[in-house]
Amino acid sequence: MSTTTQVKIHNFSAGPCILPQEVLRKAAESMIDYDGTGLSIIEMSHRSKPFEAVMAKAQSLVKELLGAPDNYQVVFLGGGASLGFHIVPLNYMKPGGKAAYANTGEWAGRAVKESKLVGETVVVASSEDKNFNYIPKGFDIPADADYFHFTSNNTIFGTQFKQFPKSAVPLICDMSSDIFSRPVNVADFALIYGGAQKNMGPAGATVYLMDPDQLGKTGRKLSPVLDLKNHASKDSMYNTPPVYAVYVSMLTMQWMKDQGGVVEMERRNAAKSKLLYDTIDRLPMFKGTTAIEDRSVMNPTFVMTDAAMEAAFDAQWKAAGVSGIRGHRSVGGYRASMYNALPIESVQVLVDVMEDFAKKNG
Ligand SMILES: *Cc1c(COP(=O)(O)O)cnc(C)c1O
Repeated sequence: MSTTTQVKIHNFSAGPCILPQEVLRKAAESMIDYDGTGLSIIEMSHRSKPFEAVMAKAQSLVKELLGAPDNYQVVFLGGGASLGFHIVPLNYMKPGGKAAYANTGEWAGRAVKESKLVGETVVVASSEDKNFNYIPKGFDIPADADYFHFTSNNTIFGTQFKQFPKSAVPLICDMSSDIFSRPVNVADFALIYGGAQKNMGPAGATVYLMDPDQLGKTGRKLSPVLDLKNHASKDSMYNTPPVYAVYVSMLTMQWMKDQGGVVEMERRNAAKSKLLYDTIDRLPMFKGTTAIEDRSVMNPTFVMTDAAMEAAFDAQWKAAGVSGIRGHRSVGGYRASMYNALPIESVQVLVDVMEDFAKKNG
């Protein structure tokens, strides 16, 4: 490997995305020789002592970082959050019962579709009328729903719940793109789940953080691979877990803890997003796409007021080493994802490019 650095890449990718450099280095080492065992972390049994310790550490770090109640359980499964969309109704909706959902974006909409495959699904709040550019507020959750599901951060449209809905029925959240970005009161949730490939680690593992008292209550007969209670009772080892993704997630969570935990992550993320949003708001050439009070701290989205300028702007940020800020293919414009591992220096580089471009072309 070359040790000379080229232009530093400022990685704003929406996911998979930036991970801490020191985590990547450690992960690379362990790919060849895990902790002096002479074996790669991916060529040892998941039931070996070393890997069992990795799994236990990963599970305990999820709970420790989020301050979860002691009895909550953690499993890591394959299939992404997308399989989670189907696992949720299977595990929490009673046959003949119903589920309530907030539809606030692409992923939330997919969760609704999967729930409809399982049973009655009511959308009690939606921002579809304005192309998902805001977070619905003040909606009612029916008391007879088996659960209420929402998406804490809408990765594609760039909105985020700043306050979580209060719910008398079990609360379930897809936190894929802002888990570990801020403190949450885990005890309010029956289930928090998310794909690892944003703040937590590499793609391939999906984390489920569950209140065990809310599991196994539907009477629905499930395949053991889709049964969260089964996975929890087998300590996430019912079948072979995604060992490398769990390992690198464990390293990333350890990094977060060493940096000061989710309180420090929240402080850094607030500073990064303020820097970018202030720039968007100050320069007439750029415009935010969402309601200001609902702006995502993780995935700021914006457009250029004159789309004809995009090509020239693109050339300039690319030359500065900025990577991955084109908006999702379904939305267009720009999205600068700023996950936990992205340093504020990278945001400063992007902001400097925007300022410079506006000065020369405004
Ligand atoms: C990325 C993302 C998903 C999709 O996750 P997969 O692991 O690709 O299935 C789901 N929900 C949210 C909020 C996301 O950001």
